[in-house]
Amino acid sequence: MNNFQIDKKKSLLLSLYIHIPWCMKKCCYCDFPTTTLHNKVPNKEYISHLLIDLKQSLLLIDGYSLKTIFIGGGTPSLLTIEMLEKLIDSIYKMVPLATNLELTIEVNPGTINENHLISYQTIGINRISIGVQTFNRNHLIHLGRLHRPEDATNIVSFASAIKFNSINLDIMYGLPNQTVNQALDDLRQAIALAPQHISWYQLTIEPNTIFWNTKPKLPKDDIIWDIYQQGNELLMSSGYQPYEISAYAHNKSYQCLHNMNYWRFGDYLGIGCSAHSKLTLPDGTIIRMVKVRNPFLYMKGKYLDKSYQVALSDLPFEYFMNRFRLFEIVPRNEFTQLTSLAENDIRSMLDQSINLGYISEYNKYWQITEKGKLFLNNLLELFLA
Ligand code: SF4
Repeated sequence: MNNFQIDKKKSLLLSLYIHIPWCMKKCCYCDFPTTTLHNKVPNKEYISHLLIDLKQSLLLIDGYSLKTIFIGGGTPSLLTIEMLEKLIDSIYKMVPLATNLELTIEVNPGTINENHLISYQTIGINRISIGVQTFNRNHLIHLGRLHRPEDATNIVSFASAIKFNSINLDIMYGLPNQTVNQALDDLRQAIALAPQHISWYQLTIEPNTIFWNTKPKLPKDDIIWDIYQQGNELLMSSGYQPYEISAYAHNKSYQCLHNMNYWRFGDYLGIGCSAHSKLTLPDGTIIRMVKVRNPFLYMKGKYLDKSYQVALSDLPFEYFMNRFRLFEIVPRNEFTQLTSLAENDIRSMLDQSINLGYISEYNKYWQITEKGKLFLNNLLELFLA
């Protein structure tokens, strides 16, 4: 890694992802890298390793300014305020900040109270992402969530009352035995709380989850389709505009800049166990890094699991897999800027996508079509090496 040349004159924007792996209990659908803690969270020790991890990465991010920080997990709301403040202050001392930094924390209802929210505001956190998932008491139990519906409504209402800059609610649909009405009712309750952003995504059953073994009965495809169509309409008629497959914002200024940077194929550094990074070197080479998955190994000072250079032949798929998640236009010159490939290198893939009606091509940009959104996997397969 030290052999890579870093151009100190460049001034680029970077996102920083910080992974907090701890959870109090494993949810039945969760395949995220988390560790269930029955005892005290090793706050101090873990934070000190995060800071060493960042320090060891400084050479790689020399010349960058931080545009977004996302503290995700796991359950970051298990960190004490004192440790969070130490983490944030130390980062500010180590890495230059861009103007209007977006600083998000993910929280789970049932792990925070009003005092946490006030403290988050005080230490500069300006975006909060609340893992509500559903307001239905039985579904919460079936999903293995810790909180009750009233925990979620109370915490969202309080965040609104103290005028938290930007509030996101995570809501899932397609839950075991869920009806169309139940799914829409979740959305109605979310909308009634008036958050600036709603992430509304479909439950899928992944390997290495409790649901993978118990195989709960999920709604059939026609129910899922009705939920999606009616839910999408409900969100839009309530003023939430979709800008990505599952992301809805009240207006552009509330779109999640951190995720936008991923989807626009920007650079990011991940610290903490399991965190991923993608960085572009001055010669255009793109490298990816993955930190070790096990938090206890991480806290022994072994941070990096693997790092590798992304092959040129993989770049078209990687680029469009991210870019076409967004519904905005894709400037044609951006493809070359971000991948160092020429448009001619992917001409036949583009022509196929256009002929199949998945994208439209204009003088300066491409735009994914409604058909392309519907058959996104088929569209992306065209860009596979
Ligand atoms: S709280 Fe979130 S990260 Fe933790 S187990 Fe549940 S879904 Fe996974």
